[in-house]
Amino acid sequence: MGNNSTEYFSTRGNADILDFAGVTLTGLAGDGGLYVPTHWPRFTPEQIKAMRGLDYVALAARVMAPFTQGVLSEDELQGLCKAAYGSFAHSAIVPLKQLDSQHFLLELFHGPTLAFKDVALQLLGQLFERFLSGTDKKLTIVGATSGDTGSAAIDAVAGRDQIEIFMLHPHDRVSDVQRRQMTTILAPNVHNIAIEGSFDDAQAMVKRMFGDRDVNGPLTLSAVNSINWARLMAQVVYYFAAALRLGSPDRTIAFSVPTGNFGDVFAGYVAAQMGLPIERLIVATNVNDILHRALANGDYSVSGVTPTAAPSMDIQVSSNFERLLFDLEGRNGAATLARMKAFEASGQMQIGPEMRSEGDIFISARADADDMALAMRWAYEHCGEVLDPHTGIALHAARAEMIAPHIPVVTLATAHPAKFRNAVERATGVRPALPQRLANLFEREERFDILPGDYDAVRDYVLAKAVR
Ligand SMILES: *Cc1c(COP(=O)(O)O)cnc(C)c1O
Repeated sequence: MGNNSTEYFSTRGNADILDFAGVTLTGLAGDGGLYVPTHWPRFTPEQIKAMRGLDYVALAARVMAPFTQGVLSEDELQGLCKAAYGSFAHSAIVPLKQLDSQHFLLELFHGPTLAFKDVALQLLGQLFERFLSGTDKKLTIVGATSGDTGSAAIDAVAGRDQIEIFMLHPHDRVSDVQRRQMTTILAPNVHNIAIEGSFDDAQAMVKRMFGDRDVNGPLTLSAVNSINWARLMAQVVYYFAAALRLGSPDRTIAFSVPTGNFGDVFAGYVAAQMGLPIERLIVATNVNDILHRALANGDYSVSGVTPTAAPSMDIQVSSNFERLLFDLEGRNGAATLARMKAFEASGQMQIGPEMRSEGDIFISARADADDMALAMRWAYEHCGEVLDPHTGIALHAARAEMIAPHIPVVTLATAHPAKFRNAVERATGVRPALPQRLANLFEREERFDILPGDYDAVRDYVLAKAVR
């Protein structure tokens, strides 16, 4: 590790300190915590002003450079971002649209798989390639997906020599579009597995594989879920992009974020720590509202998951919330460890009023199916915009939360409406077409294997297929 490298430590205070290359290739920290930088880098208002007018690729390298110091220079980052974002279908990468005098949409779905996860995963694919090239290392990515992460991760690594990816999805429980986006990628390093079981079953198998020395040892396993620091880092950039376009740093902005695992909205919090003047971050949830209950009354307790039209927000617990808790605990790893252990044992956690007031940049709102449909209809009838269900939930929250009228509110549009055509048609009467690049999705050949919901079967499959 170079002397001036940015260093990363675990939220639970008891794992190796790593540099940026190290955290990119690792998933969970050895002590079960999540990696965060040892301090938040900060830009002055003058430095933020100097970012005005940069294109997205140049801005991305400027915003991320403090996190990769000692490992990648700003110039090197620019090269990687150029390759990553060259695959986006819109030349602004993340176009900003105006809805009315106060509300804006930030479209994050112009990447190859039509969800915001491409913004981070396309870059992660480039970073993996960069850190593996010139070594004889091989990475085996194992993941479970309820839909959007799987296709974005597969697209990011398909055809790369030193990487193999095994993606588990619950058989018959992802949409046809979501499944085909994964299973029609026929590159030899891509292995799609349909598990007879639920997403939680698939996720449990992946977790077990990471701890299984018969697998993680002979193979070097790596994770691509949103606990990976590099993914969060890439998402910080678009908060800067939107705010700069709306007059930052001379003006404060609010954001409304459709939230599941708390990765996307946590990136907004990081942007605020870095000096971007953010008035409020609105955490929008559906009826799976553990985060709304936590932020509104301090009640972070697990209850069952209810399937909704916004499946990427159907979560039981939000893994990235630990990163916020760590900050609210004064960045005390021992206190965070004790808190998380108690939570893992009881399924419950109370967040006291002092801790909540430390985190008062966050407010939250919950939308049920009617709230979501009304927001989608409003956007269509008053602004001509067709929104996907996740974005509909965030727009509902943005309009419900009474931000002072002179403060612009940016709703993050996280998926293309065509990814959720049935739900969009039910709410608005419009059936959105797939964009040109996916127009023949239903004619393409599919390849995947169906395995029983049995750990040994999946482990043996991975061991048999992985190239060592
Ligand atoms: C993943 C996802 C979300 C939730 O993002 P988190 O970072 O998990 O909070 C919201 N909308 C869509 C479309 C997604 O794919």
